[in-house]
Amino acid sequence: MQLTFCGAAGQVTGSCFQFETGTCRFLVDCGLFQGARDAWELNVSPWPFDPSSIDFVNLTHAHIDHSGLLPRLYAEGFRGPVYATPATRDLVSVMLPDSAWVMNGEAERAARHGRPFVLPYRMEDARGVLALVRTVDYAEEFAPAQGVRARLQDAGHILGSAFVELWLGAGGRTVKVAVSGDLGQPGRPIVRDPAPLADADVLLLESTYGDRDHQPMEETIERLAVTLRRALEERQGLVLVPAFAVGRTQEFLYELNRLARAGRIRGPRVFVDSPMATEATQITARHFELFDDEARRLAGEPADGDSTLRVTYTASVEESKALNAITGSAIIVAASGMCDGGRIRHHLRHHLQEPRTTVLFIGYQVPGTLGRRLVDGASVVRLFGEEVPVRAEIATLEGFSAHADRSALLDWLRQMRKPPGALYLVHGEPVAAAALGARIGTELGWRSRAPAHGETVQLPA
Ligand SMILES: [Zn+2]
Repeated sequence: MQLTFCGAAGQVTGSCFQFETGTCRFLVDCGLFQGARDAWELNVSPWPFDPSSIDFVNLTHAHIDHSGLLPRLYAEGFRGPVYATPATRDLVSVMLPDSAWVMNGEAERAARHGRPFVLPYRMEDARGVLALVRTVDYAEEFAPAQGVRARLQDAGHILGSAFVELWLGAGGRTVKVAVSGDLGQPGRPIVRDPAPLADADVLLLESTYGDRDHQPMEETIERLAVTLRRALEERQGLVLVPAFAVGRTQEFLYELNRLARAGRIRGPRVFVDSPMATEATQITARHFELFDDEARRLAGEPADGDSTLRVTYTASVEESKALNAITGSAIIVAASGMCDGGRIRHHLRHHLQEPRTTVLFIGYQVPGTLGRRLVDGASVVRLFGEEVPVRAEIATLEGFSAHADRSALLDWLRQMRKPPGALYLVHGEPVAAAALGARIGTELGWRSRAPAHGETVQLPA
């Protein structure tokens, strides 16, 4: 039995792990690589496996760096089932067609400018792979192939997110493998805390924030309130919030709502300028059964008139363009979270050069993205072929992360009944994975390592 790290090894994105058991071959995740140009190359490079030979896929969650190459898998011959939670199914039903649509636009632009562009997949491939999704509830054991049992457990990261437990092999000898996917930070709004993992012979653990701890949530909310009051009330400016349409946008709106109800900010105008964020917000509201206790309580409490947020969801491109003319204080939330696509780029083009504008980052910025350049202090950026000077204030609130920080990752490991036989650190830049590995060694006395992209390891059998 063996495992190949086809993505998210030595980097954050492109989650894809291939397992071969002797009786079947399957993937956990099939995600898009994001970031610099060489990341995009990986999205169209040949896979180390034949997609038509993959028997099934277990999908941890809807984020595009975990799900975004499923349509390409379908385009190249995969026809097996994709197992996911019901909420993940609902979210990818919106996200994969959107991804295909965005890529198609990119291809058309490239064609107009005579640039070469390899399209990883088309809309019909997104629809095709969505028809293969089979839902499984949290904690429900299923047998996707002979000699494989599997279970999805709540990862507490975004709605529907899961870590995967796998029992591989038949008869007397089975190997238990666990794949963390992305783990959430305990105490986050809306979603529940990550479920515990009892044990695993082999564990693949995410390490996105393996080298640091988040600010405590109360401090983040305090800073959010201060930043918004300064930006909206003192400076009377716009606040642009680049946000992932799924997860982060809903959490951000939830926290804004709490601040408004508490009278900490005075009912600002909020525009959610992303059709996908709008749909994801509706899907979130439909999955009330997954809410944590606090979100249930808040949803049930009536708010008084003054303390409610005035949220407008733009639908058409015209409505989105109309936002360019907005003056005075308002908050615009738009995808993508790292500014490498989506409507946020239009808002940045119009408002980055305005000193009263605040760009508020609430998520991790992958190196090579426009978001990272802004966070790193770029004074000029290129948008739509134009040089745009950066005069806006750039603010970062890291505590908003939907990822577990270093302490939370260590705590999650600590509640295991025994150390895993092999521990691989994935989904992290090399610095973060190395720092987490060092800390795991000193605090828990466990060995771990970060596998290389494309590396194959034998599973104990
Ligand atoms: Zn994620």
